[in-house]
Amino acid sequence: MQSNQPFIPVTPMSKARSTFHVLAKPIGPICNLDCDYCFYLKKEKELYPGVRDFKMSDETLETFVKSYIQSQPPGITEINFAWQGGEPTLMGVDFFRRAVELQKKHLRPGQRFTNALQTNGTRLDDEWCEFLREHGFLVGISIDGPEEFHDKYRPDKGGKGSFKKVMQGLRLLQKHRVEFNTLTVVQEDNGKHPLEIYRFLRDECQSDFVQFIPIVEGVGKGMVSTRSVGKRQYGEFLVEIFEEWRKNDIGRVYVQLFEVLLGIAAGYPSSLCVHKKTCGRAVALEHNGDLYSCDHFVYPKDLVGNINKEPMGELMETDQQRKFGNDKSDALPDYCKRCEFLDYCNGGCPAHRHIETPDGDPGLNYLCEGYKVIYAHADPYLKAIARTVQLGLPPQNYEQFMPGATPAAPAKSIKSKRKKKRPGPR
Ligand code: SF4
Ligand code: SF4
Repeated sequence: MQSNQPFIPVTPMSKARSTFHVLAKPIGPICNLDCDYCFYLKKEKELYPGVRDFKMSDETLETFVKSYIQSQPPGITEINFAWQGGEPTLMGVDFFRRAVELQKKHLRPGQRFTNALQTNGTRLDDEWCEFLREHGFLVGISIDGPEEFHDKYRPDKGGKGSFKKVMQGLRLLQKHRVEFNTLTVVQEDNGKHPLEIYRFLRDECQSDFVQFIPIVEGVGKGMVSTRSVGKRQYGEFLVEIFEEWRKNDIGRVYVQLFEVLLGIAAGYPSSLCVHKKTCGRAVALEHNGDLYSCDHFVYPKDLVGNINKEPMGELMETDQQRKFGNDKSDALPDYCKRCEFLDYCNGGCPAHRHIETPDGDPGLNYLCEGYKVIYAHADPYLKAIARTVQLGLPPQNYEQFMPGATPAAPAKSIKSKRKKKRPGPR
């Protein structure tokens, strides 16, 4: 569609062929912190030079809510809205009150919606928490470990560490019984202290849903920035945490990557795009309605269109977006195709595929070495845990299914408290 006129939705709204997920950035890249590795802060200048007002308008918000709901294919009953930034709380509570109002307005019979808000937590107060609790938002708090690790790369605009304010926000969420999880960026520094980081998240933050995101900042010719996590370091970091988790926390703490791998070991496709064969069903929405192929690919070449001009369902089915998703598999190097861990890995995220294979082919994932370390270590445990769960036994009883184990290991009494699958991107 070439016109610059606003798109006026007509019924029936074009539907996508399969379900998709949108990560919405209602305040664009604007944030009250100045985290060193936030790639979104740079976008402000690169993508929207001269733009001062990054707030999503009420018209764009309603178009988004309506078209996101109506573009879902038949049979999709739960629609998850994920709000991110920048720092989405800079939009104010009223923006999200309005979002919920519009969600209710446009919901169809038999459908329900959920909301997930990713925040640095520093602006949360009682009013925010009351709202989040009342409307059942799941809140993701970005925290990189105890103060000395968190503050190293997450200063505020004045250069001061943000840890204390993040913890204040987290305590308020707990006080108001808002459901939350933690998202921890793994970099060269906290990557040296896996147990300290994990135990802090589990014991101090009382997070029972833990996500780790490796920071990989390519700086050309297969090199990465000095603050990026080391390729092998990432695997070793995960192995140490895996050991702690399998000994003490299975069924009690949901470590996202381990649960994803467990699902794969049980024979299911990956629930995380990073380890799926193809991707392209998780798009990023900018404040002005621009839709990009993925949160990790918000570049001019990855602009799929604008939801104020074209139906979201059609944008999801463009050749460009389909190619983006299929490239994950089509561009996989032969080295990966021959890999014994291909089912777990599928080559990882294309955003991290910038080194050469030992055969000299391009497109190998920077984290490959670390991935192999964790897959090789976790594989026998994952298979044993998967077998235990499939037999309806408590997952903590997996040891009897380990290679070489005697079959009748004593049952443990801890009941599995497996978390329901969290709403969220990908
Ligand atoms: S695998 Fe990477 S590129 Fe593909 S959707 Fe996920 S984050 Fe985006
Ligand atoms: S572990 Fe390495 S070689 Fe194997 S699929 Fe993953 S990135 Fe490719």
